[in-house]
Amino acid sequence: MSDVLALLTDVVDALTQPTQERTPMHTWSQDRSDRNKKRLPDHVTYVPSLLVQLAAQAFPLTVDGDQGAGARSVPQSKLPGNAEALATYLDIHASVIRWTRRFEITRRDTLTSTVRKLLAHTPKCPGYATDLLSDSMGWLESCQRVAGLIVPDPTLTVPCPVCHTRAMRVDLDDHVVRCVACGDRWVQNPEPDAVGVGALADLATYVTRYRTKAESEADAVRAEWRRRKAANTYRWTDETV
Ligand SMILES: [Zn+2]
Repeated sequence: MSDVLALLTDVVDALTQPTQERTPMHTWSQDRSDRNKKRLPDHVTYVPSLLVQLAAQAFPLTVDGDQGAGARSVPQSKLPGNAEALATYLDIHASVIRWTRRFEITRRDTLTSTVRKLLAHTPKCPGYATDLLSDSMGWLESCQRVAGLIVPDPTLTVPCPVCHTRAMRVDLDDHVVRCVACGDRWVQNPEPDAVGVGALADLATYVTRYRTKAESEADAVRAEWRRRKAANTYRWTDETV
């Protein structure tokens, strides 16, 4: 329980606490030698909490209090704000409300302070601690994804050579390519008897061959199209479907 509570506190802090970044500043006299380097007060940047950042993206002109009534110009054809941020915000909000009901506590004015209240109440409901930890880790991950702190792995455009699904992801840190559909992966030096693990070199050969084949097929299609157009006999959709 105490481990879970400690981890939950960390996660809730990451969601609800603003952070401060200090950058040391200096000045130099004319000759710019280090001897004349003088320390200035640190440059301090305040970064709002992840939940506040999410709300600012979800409701861009309403969170900042300076925008009085009438200052808002809502585009007619487009949802104001970031739709993904709004959806994420509403998901988290609904989940937090479910937790206040489960704990039988009242909500506070803001989402941030309600989340902190959930944390404060958890020691009274130890049986729920693990579930709340799991939910709050999901909230944190969603906030980080919307804030651009988690970047999804890049994808390959070619289909998987094993299951033919276009679901190939490149893990740049571990130098692994994975197929999310069938779970096979490709690494630099696979064990000789490993199942479902191939060599990156073989995958590279496959990708090159696939692209060459796709290009020559596209070339053949274009050539055929030109031939029919020149002969004025093409009825493309009828004959190719
Ligand atoms: Zn696959």
